Amino acid sequence: MSSSPIRIDLDIAVIGGGVAGLWVANRLKKQGFKIALFEHKALGSDQTMASQGMIHGGMKYTLSGMLTGASETIADMPQYWRACLCGDGDVDLRNTRLLSDHFYLWSGNSISAKLSSFFASTALNGRIDPVPDDRRPPVLRHADFGGNLYKLVDIVLDVHSLVTNLAHNIENQCFLIDWTHSSWQINSGQLQLTIEQDGQIYEVHAQRFIFCAGKGNGDLLDELGINKPAMQLRPLQQVMIRHHYPYSFYGHCLGGETTPRLTVSSHRLNSTDYVWYLGGSLAEKGAHMTPEALIEFAQAELADILPWVDMASAEWKTLPIERAEPLQPNFLRPENAFVDRAQGIANLLVAWPTKLTLAPNLANQILDLIKDDQLLPISESKNNLYGILPIPPIAPTPWETAFPPAIDPVVAVSYKLQEELSEAYDEGEEEDKKEEEQP
Ligand SMILES: Cc1cc2nc3c(=O)[nH]c(=O)nc-3n(C[C@H](O)[C@H](O)[C@H](O)COP(=O)(O)OP(=O)(O)OC[C@H]3O[C@@H](n4cnc5c(N)ncnc54)[C@H](O)[C@@H]3O)c2cc1C
Repeated sequence: MSSSPIRIDLDIAVIGGGVAGLWVANRLKKQGFKIALFEHKALGSDQTMASQGMIHGGMKYTLSGMLTGASETIADMPQYWRACLCGDGDVDLRNTRLLSDHFYLWSGNSISAKLSSFFASTALNGRIDPVPDDRRPPVLRHADFGGNLYKLVDIVLDVHSLVTNLAHNIENQCFLIDWTHSSWQINSGQLQLTIEQDGQIYEVHAQRFIFCAGKGNGDLLDELGINKPAMQLRPLQQVMIRHHYPYSFYGHCLGGETTPRLTVSSHRLNSTDYVWYLGGSLAEKGAHMTPEALIEFAQAELADILPWVDMASAEWKTLPIERAEPLQPNFLRPENAFVDRAQGIANLLVAWPTKLTLAPNLANQILDLIKDDQLLPISESKNNLYGILPIPPIAPTPWETAFPPAIDPVVAVSYKLQEELSEAYDEGEEEDKKEEEQP
């Protein structure tokens, strides 16, 4: 160990680089706070990159026909995100790709009474439009389709580009943390972080630490012996289908339950292949199945719901993943983003957005708490971690991991170059020959 520890003073240190941590760090930076975000794997790992990217106004949660307070909060979110995508919002998302500016809600042929009254509900006025037969998307444009179809003007984002965009906005403030060389200390009820890098010790002090580590919040709280707030995990197993079916589709197929029977989003894998990513009840019911059993179940569901879609030559994979949420009575689904002070530590907040859609709402709640505590940007410390700690990479998508290219992309490019060079050479030879043959 070389010299004495170097003190780093931050206003706010965010732990975890999913959508929650990235969004909160973006907002805090814009407010002039000196921030640092610490990620231990890759930005967007875990839930964020595994999400379906649907920024929804909570319509699927109003299946009971009632608009609750929570669904009113979420109802404003698509508009909020749209402003950010246009560069007019609190966070600049002009480099985030929109996959779709709408998605569909549809029901099977045998619509239940509950669904009929849901679709007829006056609460839905102006938020959802029935789709006439001649305007159906290609996936549902089949003579055998006899269900009800509605279009929601909610949006679907390419989450990889969202994470890249959010990370780029705070690029000198995201750091890769190696917990084998880092540790927490609590001094007089205040949390402090110690990092060892290249033989040097850095003591990180912050007015606030914010745990935004998704499932990782549970481990961090355990390590510090904190019981409140507590976390619950909701296991899922998503299904991924790699295929050549050319139509993108984003929608929820409604069954008799409050969770959609099937949620479909579409993602481009490479220049020839697409992935359909399936969630909803299928992923909940499949959480504890073997991948083989779940794939069989998914194939049966798809054959029942969309029998005309040919996935015969498709490749199927599954993704087990857990949703991390604040603990609820009776393991209910939380409806709002959640942030609270950690019990016993004055400078620690713990947060879960509960939905990608609600990340902006989470950041608003955090900014309100910071305002209540009258925290101001005060850190004038010159010491910085930039150039000292490594920068975290962006996580791959689950489908990139599940369906890796047959050959390494660098090797593929070199093959392509060789091919093009030899074609150019052959063409040159041909031209020379023609010239020689001319009288
Ligand atoms: C399958 C699935 C589909 C979903 N689809 C949607 C959808 O369409 N629309 C929607 O609104 N919501 C959706 N959600 C919910 C949404 O994805 C999550 O609510 C949201 O992504 C949670 O973000 P987060 O940043 O809190 O956590 P995460 O995305 O889990 O990120 C946590 C980050 O913290 C890092 N981390 C963990 N521990 C540590 C540590 N000790 N130190 C440093 N870093 C750490 C992780 O590596 C990770 O980068 C979906 C969720 C799932 C699982």
